[in-house]
Amino acid sequence: MDGLAARLARLIQETGPLTLAQYMTLCLHDPAEGYYATRPALGAGGDFITAPEVSQMFGEMIGVWAVSVWEAMGRPAPVRLVELGPGSGALINDLLRAVKGQPAFLAAIDLWLVELSAPLRRAQATQLDGGTVSFAERLDQVPAGAPLILIGNEFLDCFGVRQFVRRDGAWLEHRVGLDADGGLCLGLAPPPSGFCAPDDAPEGGVLEISEAQEAIGEGIGLRMAEAGGAALLIDYGRDRFAYGDTFQALSGHRKVDPLEAPGQADLTVHVDFPSVAAAARRGGARTAPITAQGTFLRRMGIEARARALADTAIRSGRPDLADRIARQLHRITDPAEMGTLFQVLAIHTLAADPPGFTDTEEAR
Ligand code: SAH
Repeated sequence: MDGLAARLARLIQETGPLTLAQYMTLCLHDPAEGYYATRPALGAGGDFITAPEVSQMFGEMIGVWAVSVWEAMGRPAPVRLVELGPGSGALINDLLRAVKGQPAFLAAIDLWLVELSAPLRRAQATQLDGGTVSFAERLDQVPAGAPLILIGNEFLDCFGVRQFVRRDGAWLEHRVGLDADGGLCLGLAPPPSGFCAPDDAPEGGVLEISEAQEAIGEGIGLRMAEAGGAALLIDYGRDRFAYGDTFQALSGHRKVDPLEAPGQADLTVHVDFPSVAAAARRGGARTAPITAQGTFLRRMGIEARARALADTAIRSGRPDLADRIARQLHRITDPAEMGTLFQVLAIHTLAADPPGFTDTEEAR
């Protein structure tokens, strides 16, 4: 079979230039050569590093959150605990370890991992070390009929956007086409009929629209409205509307040309949280105010947890470990690091916003 670049070129010849959303999906999920389909491991040795790979405290705080929303839901059993895009499985592993002292919660959980990549599904099963877990490729394959607690870290950013740019007072769409030598190139095409966007956008302004991210938000909203529950979506993204080109490719922790080696670099966009939240509300659920990751983690008690871990490290003669914990805390909470670049959205059916999303807890 031809390589992915050649197959993309043929597809473009047959059907015309691809939207960025189509290009992203094909590069990330082609079953033979897609980025995730061929990735046996993520993490420090990979192309990007995520918060659960930086520190165990990230998954632990989400464990604390999961137990408290379960209590606010009236301790339902069963409750489906679903992780979207679990990567290496580090987050769910840390979460489950953090809730070991909650046998009633553990007994109530029906655990589901939503993952498209076969090698990553294998890594996740190994990480969970024989625990009972079910796999699905999409959220709608997770059986209905029970409330949900749903977690997704760096999941939504895998879903592509269509990108429109304002030129000479008109909107054009960025598409991936072919240059004179048959190589992939970025070009401009008229927007689809019915496309409607603000007329007062600045010249050169880039508008990103993700139907796929919105569909996930709406799907979660519908599931929540049906059966009740709470979802936590964490991602590199914006908490309010903004123009800007956020499409990027990472390879070996460096930014690379997204068209250069299809399937070999991680392609992402910033998540448009206000649109995902609006879609979830259309689906029938509530949403809490979009909150910075650092603020959310502090409200969940990450500083006390870091102190406890550091004290244990020092008592066991490992001051180096205590320093490492301090660096990890800084990395995932500080505004100059991941603290404000990453935002957290809660979608839920609880009577009040879940913990981590209200100011009153910050003083604790
Ligand atoms: N949550 C992990 C991994 C983030 S990477 C962490 O924080 O470390 C994105 C993950 O989402 C990978 O596991 C990838 O295979 C999965 N993924 C991406 N798009 C997906 C899709 N459309 N359906 C299911 N899983 C997907």
